[in-house]
Amino acid sequence: MFNDITMLNLGFPENDHELFEQNKIYHNKQLGEFIKKSRDDSKDSTCYNCGTPCTSFCNSHSVPKFCLKKIAVNGQLYYSNTLINVPVLDSEKGINKAGTFRIICRDCDNKMFTDYENPDNYLQVPTGKMLAQIALKNYLMSISKRKMEIAMYNNLSKMYGKTVSQHQTINNLDLNQFTGGFKYAKKATEMKWDDYYFLLYYENLDYIVPIAFQNNIALITDFEGKIINNVYDTTSNYQIKYIHICIFPLEKHSVIIMFIDNGEKRYSSFYKQFKKLSVDDKLKTINYILFSYSEDIFFHKGIDNVLLNNTKLREVAQQTSVALTSNPFTNPIKSAANAFDLNKRNTIPNFLDEANKIK
Ligand SMILES: [Zn+2]
Repeated sequence: MFNDITMLNLGFPENDHELFEQNKIYHNKQLGEFIKKSRDDSKDSTCYNCGTPCTSFCNSHSVPKFCLKKIAVNGQLYYSNTLINVPVLDSEKGINKAGTFRIICRDCDNKMFTDYENPDNYLQVPTGKMLAQIALKNYLMSISKRKMEIAMYNNLSKMYGKTVSQHQTINNLDLNQFTGGFKYAKKATEMKWDDYYFLLYYENLDYIVPIAFQNNIALITDFEGKIINNVYDTTSNYQIKYIHICIFPLEKHSVIIMFIDNGEKRYSSFYKQFKKLSVDDKLKTINYILFSYSEDIFFHKGIDNVLLNNTKLREVAQQTSVALTSNPFTNPIKSAANAFDLNKRNTIPNFLDEANKIK
């Protein structure tokens, strides 16, 4: 069906697992050193936000701690790797290590996110300022991740003498976009006008969902197969447009938030189609988007294993948009649109459904 294109799958084949297990200590040590070196190389000497010289960066959380606490059991939670099953990464995480990044100083971390990181502010629709703070955090995390990846590719290329220029071009383009997104969000947090972002969807559920999430996603296609982002377009003037999604489990309820930059036309058809769905179907769509596009989902540790072991769910979670193609005449974006087809939303368990709430 996909001709020569196979969507790169993140899972490890069983026999690779065995091989890995046999040499686990060696592999972990090698990988540990590689990651440490890359992390050191990617580190700046100043806070990304205020520019103050900084030696000890804040351990910032992508998803607010109070949400992670809600789904943790004895301080531990599962994250997407539980499904992706890459043996060198841990599948269980302590709250302090869950989805963290280090590029801003403690002072900035304490000041930048105060509105959105206050659980009392979720009793009503989030303000524009809260959305701006969420976007700001998302871009900081993306910038941090991309810098780390650039350093990793540089080190890989040094180690194996292979050129990785195509990857680096994409990484650098991404980094530019994230920097632009960060600047826009920063301006939005400082302005008194509330119109920098458009809230596509807000839902207040009167139960606690077993997953937590906060990130930006580049949707590839809408419900009718129309391309929203051609993630394979590497021309420098092509812009990827992100949608921000949050799943926040709170004390007695959960909120779901989805927003874009105000005036962003790329998501118009998606929004029109999404708006017509029932609440149940909207939740299924968001659930499917998270599992198919992201590797940053946190799970309640007490979650039913039958759900986590669902074959289709694992398949969807392992899919990435990195297309491997041996034929330059095939069109990867069409294959990607097929692979990420939102009409497959009914094929995986819906973690946002009340039936799966935390009791
Ligand atoms: Zn700072």
